[in-house]
Order: sequence, then C-alpha cells, then structure tokens
Amino acid sequence: MPPKQIGRYSIKKLLGRGGMASVYLGYDPTFEREVAVKVLPRAFLNNPKFIQRFEREAKTIASLEHPAIVPVYDFGEDEDQPFLTMRYMHGGSLADLLDAGAVSLEDTARMFERLAPALDYAHKRNVIHRDLKPGNILFDESGTPYLTDFGIAKLTEGTTSDLTGTGVVGTPAYMSPEQARGHEVSASTDIYALGVILYEMLTGKQPFFADTPLALAMQHIQQPVPDIHAVVPELPRGLKLIISLSMAKEAGTRYASAGAMAQALQDIEDELESTKEIQDVSISPPTRVHNRQVAATIVEEPLDLEPMSAPTRKATPEEDAALEAMHQAPVEPEPYYDYYEQYTEPEEAGSGIWGWVLGLGGAGVFGLVVVVGIIAGLAYAFGPRQTEANPTVQAIVETQSVAPTDIPLPTEPPELGSTMVSLIDGMTMVYVPEGEFVMGSGPSDPDAREDEMPQHSPVLSAYWIDQTEVTNAMFALFLQESGNQSEGGALWLTENDPDSRLSQADGQWQVEGGFENHPVVEVTWYGASAYCQWAGRELPTEAQWEKAARGTTGFLYPWGNLFGADLANADNTGDTCTDGACDSFTGTAPVGSFPNGASPFGALDMAGNVWELTADYYGADYYNTVPPQNPQGVQEGENRVLKGGSFSSPERVLRGARRGEADPSGSNFNIGFRCALPAP
Ligand code: ADP
Ligand code: MG
Repeated sequence: MPPKQIGRYSIKKLLGRGGMASVYLGYDPTFEREVAVKVLPRAFLNNPKFIQRFEREAKTIASLEHPAIVPVYDFGEDEDQPFLTMRYMHGGSLADLLDAGAVSLEDTARMFERLAPALDYAHKRNVIHRDLKPGNILFDESGTPYLTDFGIAKLTEGTTSDLTGTGVVGTPAYMSPEQARGHEVSASTDIYALGVILYEMLTGKQPFFADTPLALAMQHIQQPVPDIHAVVPELPRGLKLIISLSMAKEAGTRYASAGAMAQALQDIEDELESTKEIQDVSISPPTRVHNRQVAATIVEEPLDLEPMSAPTRKATPEEDAALEAMHQAPVEPEPYYDYYEQYTEPEEAGSGIWGWVLGLGGAGVFGLVVVVGIIAGLAYAFGPRQTEANPTVQAIVETQSVAPTDIPLPTEPPELGSTMVSLIDGMTMVYVPEGEFVMGSGPSDPDAREDEMPQHSPVLSAYWIDQTEVTNAMFALFLQESGNQSEGGALWLTENDPDSRLSQADGQWQVEGGFENHPVVEVTWYGASAYCQWAGRELPTEAQWEKAARGTTGFLYPWGNLFGADLANADNTGDTCTDGACDSFTGTAPVGSFPNGASPFGALDMAGNVWELTADYYGADYYNTVPPQNPQGVQEGENRVLKGGSFSSPERVLRGARRGEADPSGSNFNIGFRCALPAP
C-alpha cells in the first residue's frame, strides 16, 4: 500500500520501483502541481553518516539546472524516510521505448545531441551521474528526453552491499569496468554508460548478457566490445568507432566529453542522410534520372516535395556480405578500376562517375566494389551543404524521364573545396581536381636538393585525399578488425615500441588517453598500405601527395611561400620560432591543429607533424624521367618516398618538394601516413 502522505505531498499512486527506490505520483498543495516523489529505503538510515551526506548530495543534485535535466524540486525526510521530489515526467522512459526494439540512427543522434550537453554540464560541476541507463532517461509529454537521477547512486554508496549481494545499485548492464571493480569513478564512467546506451539504441540489444550481476560485471571488465555489425550489419561502419571510443576499457581512452561523442554521431548521421539520396537515386531505374537542363525549366514550377517513391535503401544481403568480406579477406588490388571501366563511356565527359554510381543499382553487383561504390557515391553528397538542393533534385527525378545515355549529373560535380567523409573510418577527404601542377624544385630555391630537380609539370587525374593524417583512433579500429599482421618481415604496427600510442589489452586495441586524434606512428609502409586498402582507399603517389600539399603553382609550403611557425607543427628550436609564433608541440599534435596552414585544396598537416609515407618507390634521379601523366614513381626500388617533414623538422624540410625515404619494413616515431582515392 502506498503511503497517503510524504512530507507535504499527498500520494496518488506508485509509478514504479527501481533498484533501490520507489517512485510515487504525488501532489504538491503549495504549488498545486503533480510531482514525482522518490522514496529511498529506510534501511539507509542504519548508516549513521547517511543523513548528513544525503543533505549534502541532495543539495548538489538539486542545484543542477539544465533544460535537459529533470529538475529536482525538494528533498527531506519523513518519519525517518529520506525522499526527493522532482518534475513528474509523463512520457515514460527510454527503457520503455527500447522494449519495442532499436531506435533509428536519426532519432538516436538527435537524442544524443540534446542529452550530451546536459551530461557535460553536470561534469563541469563535478557531478558524476554513476547510474546512466535507459531507465534514467525520461520523456516529457511531447517526447523530449531528459536525464534524471544524477548522483543518486552516490547517495547510496556504502549502504548497499557488493555485486554478489542483494542491494545492488541499479543494474550492472551499463557499468564501466572501473565501477565494476569498485575503483574510483570519473566523468569517463558516464561516457562508458553512454556507449552502452548507444549500443543498445542502435541494435535493440545490450552488448553483454549474463545470468548474474557479477558475471555481467566481469564481462564489462574482460570481454571485448561486441560488434554492432554482427547484430545490425547495415549500420554505418563509423559507428563502431564511436562505440569503441566510448566503451573503451581504459577510462582515459574514452571520449573526453559527451559532446564530442554526440558530434561524432551527428557527423555520421549527416553524411548518411546525404548519401541516402544518392543511393535512392542510384537504385532507381535509369529512366528516372534527368539532366540539368530539364531541371532548370522545372524549378520554375511548384515543386512536388513529397519524398521519392523509392524507399530508403537498406543494404542487400550481398552488400552486407561484401562489407564483411572487405574487412575479413585481403582486398583485391584496385577493384575500383575494374568496376569503373564497366560503366564508363570515356568520351562522355562528366557522365562517368554518375554512370558508375548508377551501376551500383544494376544487376549482379557484388564483392568489394560496393563498398568503394558507397564511398564514391558520397562524392555527390558533399555533406549537409548539398542536401539543401535535394528537394529540387528529388522532384525532378519524380516528374521527368530521359534515356540512360543522357544520364547527367544529378547535383554539382565535385570541385575545388568539395569534401566527403568515409563511412568506414570517418576520415574527411578533400577533392583535388584534374590538371597539371608544378612538381619539384627550380634552381632558384636555395634549399632545393639534387633529387628534387628538375622541376616538371605532370598532369594528374582527379582524386580525393585525406584531409589529415590517419589517427591512432582510426588505426585502432583497423587493427581491431584485421589484427596486427606481419608483412615484409615486420608487424604492421610496431606495438611494443614505447612511442606507439596503441596497445592491446584483453583482445581490445586501445589508444593511450589524449592521443586519439594524434597521427598514428610506428607503422610500417606495409601497415599503412593495408590500412588504406581496408578503408577502401590507397596510399597517394608522391605526385598526388605533392600536388595536394602545394597546389598547382608550386608553393614552397602548403599555405604559400613564406614560412610561419604558427602554420605547422614543426621544429620549435629553429630560428623561425619567435615568441608567440611557436607551435606548442614538442611531439605530434592532434591532426588539424593548424587550420591556417591548409593547402590550396584544404589538406591539413601536410607540412610537419609526421613524415608521410607514399605509394612510390624512392629513386634519386626520378625527376629526370617523370612521365607527363599520373606518375607512379620509379619501377623498382627498396625504400618508399616520404613527404612533408615532421614535428622536429626545420623549415627547409617542410617544403612540399622535399623528398625523404623509408625502409618499408621499418617504423618510426615521426612517420605516419594518409590515404587517397582516385575520383572516378
Ligand atoms: P530506475 O531508474 O532504476 O528505473 P527509479 O527508482 O529511478 O528506478 O524509478 C522507478 C520508476 O519510476 C521508473 O519506472 C521510472 O520510469 C519512474 N520514474 C522515475 N522518476 C520519474 C519521474 N520524474 N516522473 C515519472 N516517472 C518517474
Ligand atoms: Mg531512475
């Protein structure tokens, strides 16, 4: 029987019972409103310190004021029974919602976007939730989510027994390894729980199951995070990285904030939204696609903004199998070209990529090609910028019909400034249009070395190049899927080198805390090459690298011809380092730390930070024999070309023309890489 009265609140009914409290619907006569009254067990009072602490903690909890946190109104004791009152939430909990199964990526991203700032807000005030779980995410009458029960778990500390007893606080299903071990908790503890919640929202299942709370806690401590793709194969690959960065066993290697996690989620969702339209179009019969001249006339008329009749496309079982194969089997060399040739009419300028993307929807597409195809499809989806135009495109697709041979571009083709994001590793790529560029150094450059001359002007086909170096977090994802394999007599990653920020524990690859976004180092050329293949890309040729770094006119540095120490992570002890202009890094810097040092194509960190491996063999006299089109390096050799200098290089070494070389089986603390992708 519920009590009739608690404090000044009259009790109407029991709303529910959690692990340690009962929650009632109450009425507050003072403010004439309904409230939720949470009654904590009387047994707590057996602990003499409890009341004192209860008051202290309750004040802290009640002081949290945030639009996405359920407000606590009051606290007190009634007949030796501690209670809290808070806003009554009409909409049930996320736990109720999850009873019906997984939540869409779109809704999940939106919920995280709203809740993450609330959690970060509490963390800034040194309030750790300690019991984040779907049951503590409540909805109001309009379905807007709120976090609740901040710090309640702490109130009960010392009053409950351990995991083997009956007084378990909440459920260990969302419990971080440190919590399960009884170690100190921190903001990262909540990030872990958020990772578990994300896993559950995306898959409809919790990552771990066990018969007893203790066994479940042990799994959080010991077992690698299960793969969301084993449950829902069609989820974007990048989500796995978000799960592993939030559910990392080591607290220090998790996301630094809930906001960062929510942003990562939103990025994938945005990218997927823009891809969806491409995929929708690509699976439509060719007769549904129209050219831009038609578009121009139709735009004058009221547009039919109904969604396209083609349903949102889910991956087919064949594609799923292909995605899996991509990550398990060694990748065929350059599947992309094979496929491209099947669908391209070389004489039709501009139609190639579109025909190729269209081809994805055609009959009998399987294998690795699909993966590359999805990426290439993204070429038309330059992030959210392009989505605005899509109602137009959709309407046209609905209303007109032309023959497939007239297949035109559905949206603007990529151009200078276009970017796209890989759904495999989350890397942003920048576009480098087709054309000539100045490669090598002229005699007027006093720093030019013999092997950089003579200067020449090869023509390169269009390609995409990673905006930054590949990071430790990205490489960890690759190793998690592929293992650290041996090639060329060495492991891909020299994992026992103290300069490597990646290590393995319990079968889980981890990044040392704070180094997630630093470029991966201590990787062999074979490891770099394998990574790019895994990600559906390839190492850039030296020419591709140099053009991306210097632009077409032969800048000395990515940003121009004058060195500035604040434009790159470079040698701090050189004479260019004047007060206020020095970069603050003694080793590697997080990628993208020097946005002002961007190249004309928007590539970052192409001078300094780490030397970058390229696809080419190094040859000292290569520049005397460079072919005029798409040069690929010398035919044979031992070492591979390095470009860009590192955090310890003086300015002359940071010149885009500068060439270094590396033993492909070696690795170093200042050598990393980025990948490229030929544009169809
Ligand atoms: P748990 O969080 O472990 O589910 P609680 O003791 O916090 O347990 O809550 C018990 C029940 O009361 C839950 O079913 C929850 O949905 C409900 N509840 C908790 N707080 C509120 C509230 N402010 N408004 C409405 N219902 C609530
Ligand atoms: Mg609760």
